[in-house]
Amino acid sequence: MINETGLIFLGPPGAGKGTQAKYLAEFLEIPHISTGDILREAIGAQTILGKQVQEYVDRGDLVPDRLILDLIEDRLDRQDAQKGWILDGFPRNVKQAKFLDELLAKLNQHYMVYVVNLEVPEEVLMKRLLETRRRKDDNRETISHRLQVHKQETEPVIEFYRQHHKLYSVDGNRSPAEVTQSLKEIITAA
Ligand code: AMP
Repeated sequence: MINETGLIFLGPPGAGKGTQAKYLAEFLEIPHISTGDILREAIGAQTILGKQVQEYVDRGDLVPDRLILDLIEDRLDRQDAQKGWILDGFPRNVKQAKFLDELLAKLNQHYMVYVVNLEVPEEVLMKRLLETRRRKDDNRETISHRLQVHKQETEPVIEFYRQHHKLYSVDGNRSPAEVTQSLKEIITAA
């Protein structure tokens, strides 16, 4: 097993971040940290956080940074994250990306961090998201809005990482197994 690996999945909703993160988390034996899952769980349990974020998630808007930054700091500080992690859905804007850099230094997590952008054409994303619609926040209107939010807020994160780190671009418009294979090659080649 490869120790102390950080993997950051960028890419729009429907790109397959969750699916790939789950496979690779098992393969690398490190936790899969999905901010979307954590928020949905909080909403389901109607915790204080859940109540604060529900309307944003329902609309497909990003929840306020102060809530997400606290959440990610607590999560990365936990024992199971000391051997690495896979981030799925974070960072979602440049402020979050900068915060993450500072947080990793503060937590002494000098891991080998891979930033992967999963690329999938927009029409394929819409089709996938409509077909696999399971969530309350998944109707055509909300999906379009989430794709729009991704363009505006999250695409600049790709540029941020291109400038400050090494960024891997992976064709996500293939079968999940093929994408996993490419990701494993990136991790094992370095
Ligand atoms: P996801 O499952 O990653 O698509 O996330 C579902 C929803 O949770 C998003 O549409 C946002 O409302 C919220 N969310 C998840 N991660 C973040 C984040 N890093 N920053 C702000 N909002 C987030």
